[in-house]
Amino acid sequence: MDKLLGEVDPQIVEIVANDLTRQQNSLMLIPSENYASRAVMETQASILANKYAEGYPGERYYNGCEFMDEVESLAIERAKALFGVEHVNVQPHAGSQANMAVYHALLEPGDTILGMSLSQGGHLTHGANVNFSGNFYNIAAYGVDAETERIDMEEIACLAEQHRPRLIVVGATAYPRHFDFAAWRQVADAVGAYLLADIAHIAGLIAGGVHPDPVPYADVITTTTHKTLRGPRGAMIMCKAEYADKIDRAVFPGLQGGPFLHTIAARAVAFKEASDPDFKRYQAQIVKNAKALAARLTENGFRLVSGGTDNHLMLIDLTTKYEKLSGRQAADHLEDAGIIVNKNTIPFDKRKPRTTSGLRIGTPMITTRGMAEDEMILVADFITETLENRQKAAIKRQIREKVKELCAQFPIYDFLSY
Ligand SMILES: *Cc1c(COP(=O)(O)O)cnc(C)c1O
Repeated sequence: MDKLLGEVDPQIVEIVANDLTRQQNSLMLIPSENYASRAVMETQASILANKYAEGYPGERYYNGCEFMDEVESLAIERAKALFGVEHVNVQPHAGSQANMAVYHALLEPGDTILGMSLSQGGHLTHGANVNFSGNFYNIAAYGVDAETERIDMEEIACLAEQHRPRLIVVGATAYPRHFDFAAWRQVADAVGAYLLADIAHIAGLIAGGVHPDPVPYADVITTTTHKTLRGPRGAMIMCKAEYADKIDRAVFPGLQGGPFLHTIAARAVAFKEASDPDFKRYQAQIVKNAKALAARLTENGFRLVSGGTDNHLMLIDLTTKYEKLSGRQAADHLEDAGIIVNKNTIPFDKRKPRTTSGLRIGTPMITTRGMAEDEMILVADFITETLENRQKAAIKRQIREKVKELCAQFPIYDFLSY
C-alpha cells in the first residue's frame, strides 16, 4: 500500500516520464489542451478519489460525506462567483456528458436541436450523426457564410424559423471568431427555443473578460474545465435558477452515478486561480498571441479561415498554399519537427474528416509557458519552414532542435522528476 509508483510499476513511470519530456520539448498548439497547475494536479491525485458521494451536498446516498459536501459546495460557490451565474452543477465528468445532461433535462427524444455542424466547427455533441445527439434528436445544422466564413445571424434566424428547434446550441470547437450571444437570444426568443451556450473552448476567455459574456442571454451554459479555463479534466453546467432542479436530476441520477470528488476539488482550485488578476492577464495574452501568430502566418503566405482570429485559435486553409498537402499530412510533418497541432476540416472542405484541408492551431499552452508576441514570430516561422521543407528529414530534425531550444527557455513542471 505504501510503495512508490516506481517500485510498483516502472513501466507506467517510464511512459509518464516520456510524455513529460514530450510536453516539455514540443510546441503544443492544440487549442483544447492546456498545462494544469501543480496545485490542480496535486488535488487530482488526492485521497478524495477514494470516496463515493452519490447525490448533492446535504443529500447524499452514502455516509461519511461531510468533507465531500464541503468541497463540492466550495466548487459551486466559486464557479457561481467567477461566472456570475445563479446555479452550477459541477459533477459532469466531461463536456460531452454535460451537453447530454442538458438535452436530457430539457428535451424529449425526437425534439429538434439547431446546432453547428461538425464539419464547419461544431462539436460532436451538437448533432453529429455518429454521436448520441444525432441519433436521439432531430438535428438542424448551421454553418458559416461561404464568403465571410463567419456565422451570419440572418441565416441563423431563417433556419430557426424554418426548423422551429426546441433548443439552439451556440458554441464551437473550431471557430476563430466571437459569438454575439445577444443576437442568439433574439433568435431563440423569436421561435420559443431554449438557448444553450457551449463555452467549452472559450470559458477561460470569458472568465478573463476577453470574450463576450453569454450569462445574461443563455438559459443554460456548459463548459469543460480543462481547456482555456486551465483546470482539471471535467465539466460543469451553469443555468438560471428555474432550470436548476431539472439539470441536477438529469446529471444524477439521470446519467451519472458517483461524482469524481478529487476532480471536483481540483475544479475548485482552478476557479480560485481563475479569480486572480494574473488569470485575466493570461487570457488577454492568449488572444494577443493568437493575433500575432495569425498575422505572421498570413505574412508567410498562409490563408486563415475568416482572415484571422478574435480568440485563442485559428484555422489554416492549406489549399491555397499547397494544393496537394492534406491537413493530416501537414500535422504529421509538423510533429516530426516537434510542433503538435491537429488536422481539422475547413468550412466547405473537399476532403474527408480523416484527411482534411486544414490545421487548427491555438495559443493557450504556449501562453501558459510564458511565451509572448516575439515568440509567436518564431513559432509561425517554424511552422512555415517545416511545411516548406516537409520532404527533407534533415531540415525537420534541425527545426526540432530549434523548437527544443525555444522550449527550454520556457520550462514546464520543473519540480517534477522521474
Ligand atoms: C471539447 C468540447 C466538448 C466536449 O468535451 P469532452 O470533455 O471532450 O467531452 C463539448 N463542446 C465543445 C464545444 C467542445 O469544444
